[in-house]
Parts: sequence; structure tokens; C-alpha cells
Amino acid sequence: MKEMKEGIVTINLREQIIQQEQQHVVQSYRRPPFVLTNGEGMTVYDSDGNAYLDWVAGIAVNSLGYGDSEIIEAIQQAATGLLHTSNLYHTAPHAQLATQLCEHSFADRVFFCNSGAEANEGAIKFSRKVAYMNERHDKREIVAFTGAFHGRTMGALALTPREKYQKPFAPLMGGTAIAEFNNIDSARVAIGEQTAAVIVEPIQGEGGINVADQAFLQALRDLCDEHDALLIFDEIQCGVGRTGTLWAYEHYEVIPDILTVAKPLAAGLPIGAILMTEKVASAIQPGDHGSTFAGGPLVTSVAGVVLNRVRQPSFLEHVAEVGDYLIERLSEINSPLIKAVRGRGLIVAVEMTVDVSGIVNAGYEHGLLLVNAGPNVLRFVPPLIAEKHHVDTMIERLLPILQQVEG
Ligand SMILES: *Cc1c(COP(=O)(O)O)cnc(C)c1O
Repeated sequence: MKEMKEGIVTINLREQIIQQEQQHVVQSYRRPPFVLTNGEGMTVYDSDGNAYLDWVAGIAVNSLGYGDSEIIEAIQQAATGLLHTSNLYHTAPHAQLATQLCEHSFADRVFFCNSGAEANEGAIKFSRKVAYMNERHDKREIVAFTGAFHGRTMGALALTPREKYQKPFAPLMGGTAIAEFNNIDSARVAIGEQTAAVIVEPIQGEGGINVADQAFLQALRDLCDEHDALLIFDEIQCGVGRTGTLWAYEHYEVIPDILTVAKPLAAGLPIGAILMTEKVASAIQPGDHGSTFAGGPLVTSVAGVVLNRVRQPSFLEHVAEVGDYLIERLSEINSPLIKAVRGRGLIVAVEMTVDVSGIVNAGYEHGLLLVNAGPNVLRFVPPLIAEKHHVDTMIERLLPILQQVEG
């Protein structure tokens, strides 16, 4: 821009933004060549006015879509109040959201944080503190599973067994063991007296939308009880209404000791929460853990609105119904590229015989935001307000892409 002569400034906003990103942003993401500017409902628009039907929702975050009037109002109202107080002081939205979360889950107490990884870090610390308070200094190990994704920080990363994510950053947190997902025998080998906690996603997100079996989660509960270990469910991606119940664990009637929540809880604002039983919480004393920003009045007031909306039976029924319809329509597609369709509610995957990045890229040309979950899995985690006609439109746009890839 600096070198440009007066009068011939032809560079448009899109090119300028992409140039700035490429020059000054750490290149840890490969972004497509458009700039998102605004959105409404299930649709986002770029700076050239192109519309995209959004099946990604900012990675399962934008639970109520774009421009929701109740969310806008909650943010505006909260913005006129205190934005930040730190956790040194009481504020109403913080205490009220904790109360709401406990009223509508197994939990007795909540600790707030700012992201998913942070929620899992807290869950690891709390689990080890429980063992420590019981003078079980031998009980340090955290068990996780193949295909898991628990975050990018050093503790959560140690529980995310993917070489590409872990290897350049070694040494990671010690005291971990990895067992095979949905394999009870493997879990039985890994879980013992040394185990402080077992962490599992009831539906694995990044790992490819793998649904835990009933018998597997029940076996984890039994093994944890047998060895006095805590069971942590990571519902950062599958929780808050996504499966058609408020919490994914409700489908199993297996109750964890700790539940980690983040992505959709504040409809796009950064928040994390660690829900737990009194047994866990009673091991935590002032000074054990903290966060400067966490649970601030703005994010917690917005999360209160989200939770109030999503937990309504009619809202959850809608998610289940549209989710069933999505699975039905995807299953009807007759393509040699499709190996399997799986999921529950609005967390659904199509496993393909090919790398899906070409399909994701072609989606942009067809007005679709799509995302993968591993190389061969196309993932569907739209805003929870998606309707059947959005499913129809998405399928209509996906079919020619698949035909194109089939060649
Ligand atoms: C996204 C995700 C995380 C990490 O959340 P961040 O907010 O990105 O740190 C952890 N667990 C699961 C299941 C996730 O999907």
C-alpha cells in the first residue's frame, strides 16, 4: 500500500486483509481466500457479498447462529455494566450461571475458565488434588484414549495422542496413559490404583465423531469406582444441547465426577467451565487454582441466556429432530466415496474414502462452510438453530461437489 501512487489504489479489502494476515499473523492456520464480515442466522457473508451456509459454526461454538437478538441484547446490557472485576469479588452473573449449571446437571459446583483446553487443565489439577488430599501420593496418572482431543496446552496435549500435535513439543506433561477408545479390555489394562482420573469424550469430535458405546462408558464408570479414580467427561464439543439432550452423558445414564464444557456455552464468547461433584470440589481450597479473566460478568451473563434457551425441551427436541433428518439425508446419498455416516443430534460425520480437504475447498465455491475431523471425515456441527430446509440446501450443494470429486 505504501508504494502505491495516488489515484491508482485498486487493491480491495479482501486482498489487503489476506496480505496483512500472510505478513503478520503466525501461519498456524491455512485460511481460505475470503474475508468473513457479517452473518445472520445460519448464513455468513464475505467482503464480496458471497453467502455461505454455515455447517461449522466456528467449530461447534456459534450455538445460536449469527445475529441472535437475545444474545445481542444480553451483550449490550452487560457492556454497560462491569466488564471485568477479577475473581477477587462477587458478581451476580457468575454466581447465577454456576447455579443454573448445577440445577441442570449432576454437578454441585462449577469453576469457570476461558477455553476448552483450560477446562481440561483444571480438571487434571483437581483430579490430582483429590488424590493428594486423600494422601494417595502414588495416584497421579490420567488415562485418555486413542482418537481423543483435549486441547493444545501442555497437560491437555499430553492427553491428545496424535504424533503431529505432540512430537515437536516434547516433553509433555508426565503421568499419562493412553488406552484404546471403545475397548473395555484396553481400558481395564490402563486403569489401576495409580489412576487419578480417566478423561473421555462421550462423542469424540476432532477424532472423527466417534460415539462411545454404552458398555464402554459404563465400564469406565465401574473401573473408576473400583480403583477410586475420577471419571471426567469432556463435553467441550458434544455438550450444551448438541446431541439433542443438554449433556451428551444423558444418553448413557453414566454420571461423571467432572464435566468440562466450553465451545458453545456463550454462543461465541470465550468461556470454559468445569462442573463437578461436591466430593471433587471439597478438595479444592483457596489459592489452589485461579484465572484472572474467568467467569467475568459479560461472558457469564451471555452464557446464562444460552443455557436458558438451549435447555428448553422444545429446543432440544428440535436439535434431535433436525439431527435425525441430517443423518437420514446424508445416508441416502449414493456415492462410492462414502464409507459411513455417524453421529447424534447435530454432531454428525461422513467418513469418506478420500481426503476431504478438496470437498471442504469446493464447498466455498458452492456457498457452504464445511470442516473436516481428521483427513477422511467430513464433520457437520452447525448452529443448533439449523432447520430441515437448511439440511436440504446443504445436501443440494454437496451432491455436485461429490460428483465432481468422483470424477
Ligand atoms: C475444542 C476442544 C477442546 C479444546 O478447546 P479450546 O477452547 O480450543 O482450547 C477440548 N476438548 C474437545 C472435545 C474439543 O472439541
